[in-house]
Amino acid sequence: MFGPGRLFSLLNYLNKTFSYGTLLRYGGHIFKIMKRDGMGRIGKITTAHGDITTPTLMPVIDPTDIILKPKDMRREFGSELVITNAYLTMLHFGNDPVTKIHKILDYDGPIMTDSGGYQILRYGSVNVTPEDIIRYQDSIAPDIATILDIPTGVGATREYAAETVRVTLERAKQAVKIRSNPEVMWCGPIQGGLFTDLVEESARETGKLDYHLHAIGSPVELLNGYRYAEIVDLIMAAKKNLPLDRPVHLFGAGHPTMLSLSVAMGCDLFDSAAYILFARDNRYMTSEGTLHLEDLSYLPCECPVCTNTTVEKLKREPEVEKVKLLARHNLHVTFGELRRIRQAIVEGRLWEHVQLKCRAHPSLLEALSRFLSYGKFIERFDPVTKKSAFYYSGEESARRPEVLRHQLRLKERYKAPPLSTLAIIPEFGGKQLKSVDLERTHILKLVPPFGVVPEELDEVYPLAQNQTPKEPDAEQVRSVTEALENYLRSYGNSYERVILFNDHRRWGKQLEKACESVKEKLEIVQL
Ligand SMILES: [Zn+2]
Repeated sequence: MFGPGRLFSLLNYLNKTFSYGTLLRYGGHIFKIMKRDGMGRIGKITTAHGDITTPTLMPVIDPTDIILKPKDMRREFGSELVITNAYLTMLHFGNDPVTKIHKILDYDGPIMTDSGGYQILRYGSVNVTPEDIIRYQDSIAPDIATILDIPTGVGATREYAAETVRVTLERAKQAVKIRSNPEVMWCGPIQGGLFTDLVEESARETGKLDYHLHAIGSPVELLNGYRYAEIVDLIMAAKKNLPLDRPVHLFGAGHPTMLSLSVAMGCDLFDSAAYILFARDNRYMTSEGTLHLEDLSYLPCECPVCTNTTVEKLKREPEVEKVKLLARHNLHVTFGELRRIRQAIVEGRLWEHVQLKCRAHPSLLEALSRFLSYGKFIERFDPVTKKSAFYYSGEESARRPEVLRHQLRLKERYKAPPLSTLAIIPEFGGKQLKSVDLERTHILKLVPPFGVVPEELDEVYPLAQNQTPKEPDAEQVRSVTEALENYLRSYGNSYERVILFNDHRRWGKQLEKACESVKEKLEIVQL
């Protein structure tokens, strides 16, 4: 154990460990947060037809053309919640007399309905009033219903985008007064498209109303165009302004490639029509991207569909059967990725998982970089301790919230203990310290990508619980030299002697350069 000087420094550093994330544990009555990592969470939504674990994917069911039955989906893929379109249901089945949605879909599990907003985006308008569709959904009694919003879309002018936000918000206010079925939970959509200030306003104002969850609109066109970084801005603009205790649904983002990144940003629900639309188009999903059946020589997947057939057989199947098989494969891949994401959250490894996935496409890597640019906001949610060690898995690791948190705390809270000598040592080994008086010496370790770690902080997660390659890459060198420079500029004056134990093979001249501000009292010991 170290003396009172060092203990005081540790306590200063640890001060104010409260983070916004703590609040989430006591979230709203329908949504309970069980585990967190990044801004991602494993949660439980309680509905009239059972509990749903999030993050989850809702397969989209066309009520007029059911290819895979919801109850078969639950059995085969473990899907807990399906989504269908209330507007199409009303057109097809009429509302007199009203049949409950659970009967129409022959499913006794949780069902969500969308209202027709997507049809507006596709066809320009729908033949129903916002009030009618609220009353209709109350009468068919899904577990979660959605108001009739006006999707902004990607090509919108600012004026049009503002109008979609205004009208959607007005309808959201109106709907609160009309709703009558207490068993139905309501989703308040967020619009604004690429105008992030409008998205912020939409989220802030809708978040004040009595809604159980929110959906972020318009990402489908961006997803199809690989404009992932813009989706990050859209989601973050909404997340920064929505109540923390409400689940967030990302409309139409059911492809496995961006799932982990979206979960890391705090999205809880995803819907997928893609599984069937892609299947009709011979498109074969993988968690790294989409392949075309005609280009495949093998089926690169472990799902029951792919292990029970061959690519030649699949290509020869009659159209209806082929679509069904491809749809099932697409769902297996998506639910498989979802389970990996959940497991990663439990282990505290979501960041590593996201980094791995984002290497599948340059646009995803760009999106990850964009997400990390929101570091200060993310840091408030990311748990201060995790089950697993921090793994350095590429240069984005240096921008992870755990790293940022340490750097912020060193800068804003830390005070160096009153000791006369500073010994700067590489992370590994310790033999070199035999030559110093440990009582009077303050030891500063070099720990890439965290930077420098004063000895008294060594047990704070994850400053010792991390694995990085022994040969530092450019980003690791940068993180250490910058942190050392900053530390010495702040505290260099408080020491009489500074000893640098320099490991030339790893660091070259970089560390000496970083010690420029204390060169008068610097002693260098070459290792
Ligand atoms: Zn498969």
